[in-house]
Amino acid sequence: MTELNQQTTYDDNNIFAKMLDGDIPYHKVYEDDKTLAFMDIMPQAEGHVLVIPKQKAVDLADLEPEYAAAVLMTSKKVMQAQRQVFEREGVIQMQLNGSQAGQTVFHYHVHLIPSSIHELGRHAVTQADNSDLADIAQKLLAVIDA
Ligand code: 5GP
Repeated sequence: MTELNQQTTYDDNNIFAKMLDGDIPYHKVYEDDKTLAFMDIMPQAEGHVLVIPKQKAVDLADLEPEYAAAVLMTSKKVMQAQRQVFEREGVIQMQLNGSQAGQTVFHYHVHLIPSSIHELGRHAVTQADNSDLADIAQKLLAVIDA
C-alpha cells in the first residue's frame, strides 16, 4: 500500500494563513468578510486567481457551509471579471484535495484559470513577473468594483 504524505491538521504557518494575517504580500483581487481572492504567483495561465475562505480549512472536508457558499460566490465574481478582462468565455475552476491530488498549500483554495484544459500550463512551476501580476490584479479589481 502506498504511504500518503497527507496533511490533515491545519498549520497556522501555511503561506495563505500568513497572507490572511497580513504577514506576506499578495496582489488582491477581491476581499469580503469571509473570503479573499488574489493572484497566483506561479500562474498556469495569465490571470490565474486563487480564492480562499477566512476559515482554517485544510481541504474541502473541513469547509463549513457558510464559507463554502462564500467561496463559491466570490469565485463567481472573479470568473465574471476574468471573462471581461481577458475577453474569453473559458475559465477553469479547479481545487485539489490532498497531496496525492497535487495540493501543495494546505489552506483550502479554489483556482480560477482563464485557460482551456488542453492549454493549461504546469502546476506551481514558473513564477510570474511581479509587475504583471499587479497590473492584472488592478484590472480585475476595477471590474469587480464597478
Ligand atoms: P495547490 O497546489 O495547493 O492546489 O495550489 C497552491 C497554489 O498556490 C499554486 O498554484 C501556487 O502557484 C500558489 N502559491 C504558492 N505559493 C504562493 C505564494 O507565496 N503566493 C501566491 N500568491 N501564490 C502562491
